[in-house]
Amino acid sequence: CGIVGVTGVGDALPYLLQGLQKLEYRGYDSAGVYLTDASGKNALIKEKGRVAKLAEKAKANGFAGTAGIAHTRWATHGNVTVENAHPQKSADDRFFLVHNGVIENYKELTETYLQGVHLVSETDTEVAVQLVDKFSKDGLATPDAFRKMISLLDGNSAYGFLLVDHEDPETLYVAKKKSPLLVGVSEHGNAVTSDAAAMIDLTKDFIELRDGDMAIVKPDSVVIYDAAGERVNREPFTLEIDP
Ligand code: GLU
Repeated sequence: CGIVGVTGVGDALPYLLQGLQKLEYRGYDSAGVYLTDASGKNALIKEKGRVAKLAEKAKANGFAGTAGIAHTRWATHGNVTVENAHPQKSADDRFFLVHNGVIENYKELTETYLQGVHLVSETDTEVAVQLVDKFSKDGLATPDAFRKMISLLDGNSAYGFLLVDHEDPETLYVAKKKSPLLVGVSEHGNAVTSDAAAMIDLTKDFIELRDGDMAIVKPDSVVIYDAAGERVNREPFTLEIDP
């Protein structure tokens, strides 16, 4: 339902929690956050119910990541449980993914590619992150594994994806179709969000991604590829809003 992510911002958690709070008005049933830093230390915290409850648990955890991704979930596939909340992760804890939308053919994809992989949630989203892991294990570099997963999604599927690879912890992999996603750019770190208003504490400058785009967002760079895989340059716009 709602997505926020940041990288290279110093202490990531306050930005992510404030972002989730600004997305609450859209409605949700559970929420979660994944935090990491350049050394690969990390924490995954998920809760049913209010963002305030997640915030308490995340603050008690005490880990100060420099990058992270967070999500408010409105369940479409699978009950409202902690296991089904996002971020979803791959079996070996390498890839972490938040997702807005629906993957129509997740059952077929599971049967075709994930025989023998133990799925711990009932979500369509977990299938996506397990596929990235599978294609990575088959030898693809992470951007290629991510792109291959996306290419297999049924045409009716909708997604805003934000992926983190623990092997390269401060890089955010981003893709979208039929679900809004923006990249927030600043001198002191970059962000990804489904709603610009959720990231105005970090920046007012946003690049709106188009359907089929894939972006690689690092602490000091943003690279965008269009649906054809061509590198494209998109100018940011400035949001006229008082924080
Ligand atoms: N289809 C996903 C799920 O049920 C994402 C739902 C959402 O957009 O929040 O977990």
